[in-house]
Amino acid sequence: MSPHPDDESIATGELIQQVRQSGGQVRILLLTNGDNNPWPQRWMERRLRIGADERRRWGERRRGEVAQALARLGVEPDAFEALGWPDMGITDRLCSQLAPSLAALTKALDAIQPNLLALPALGDHHPDHGAAHVLTRLAVASWEGAAPQMLAYLVHGREGEVTGRVKLDSSVGLHANKMAALGCHLSQMALSGKRMRRLADRPERYRLVKTDDREASPSVLPWQPPSALHPWLHLLMADGSGVHSWPWAKAPLARDGQGRYVLHARADGARGPAFAKLHMNLPSPWIFDRWGWCEL
Ligand SMILES: [Zn+2]
Repeated sequence: MSPHPDDESIATGELIQQVRQSGGQVRILLLTNGDNNPWPQRWMERRLRIGADERRRWGERRRGEVAQALARLGVEPDAFEALGWPDMGITDRLCSQLAPSLAALTKALDAIQPNLLALPALGDHHPDHGAAHVLTRLAVASWEGAAPQMLAYLVHGREGEVTGRVKLDSSVGLHANKMAALGCHLSQMALSGKRMRRLADRPERYRLVKTDDREASPSVLPWQPPSALHPWLHLLMADGSGVHSWPWAKAPLARDGQGRYVLHARADGARGPAFAKLHMNLPSPWIFDRWGWCEL
């Protein structure tokens, strides 16, 4: 599962080749076409104004780049499906269209029947990646099929924060081919080739997602936001029953004996995964999450 064109190569380029070489099948679910990408588009197309038509065209171009990258990794062109969700809009989609989003994902799970699912890490700093993790986990929890083993990968963020204990054995050949697949994403390599190569050059490491089904209980949050920021903070909680959002001052929070914030929000007896996100409602040119998501 790839939130944007290029994540499949950066995060799983070697995993994909290993699955293919060992006789497995690979399917790619692409959530967005990566069409909200104005600066590379301005640069490559030498135009300032990017309207809806230009965005759509750019998304088609990037989808074509995924197909080329996958061919390089040994995956057939019909093995990827694009959902066309809004680029930089997966968190909004999670909040406003949870049921249809989960339906789209469970439909894909029905069609693919995966026994291994690679998904973005919850702690990835890109908001689309964290929200994609939450939606995927909720979809898998509600799916009636056999739950796949899940490996979470990090693209944006410090490696030590969220990468896990599963490290893929690699080879010079696999790595070189992965970097060649990355090179198919010409629209991204033009302005950010160095950064893209640095991200893809890291060994592929994954965190095995644990899915123990326990009853909901109040959860200690990992954040201690400074009180000067409280008026602008919002807390979001998502589980199988829906999404709830509160301004920080109105969130059902208490302090424990160590001064940590504890969230009392889930219904008694609720089961399944649940997640919270702390964010600030101020316009900012900085797209990455400052606090992001945690699992409750
Ligand atoms: Zn991405």
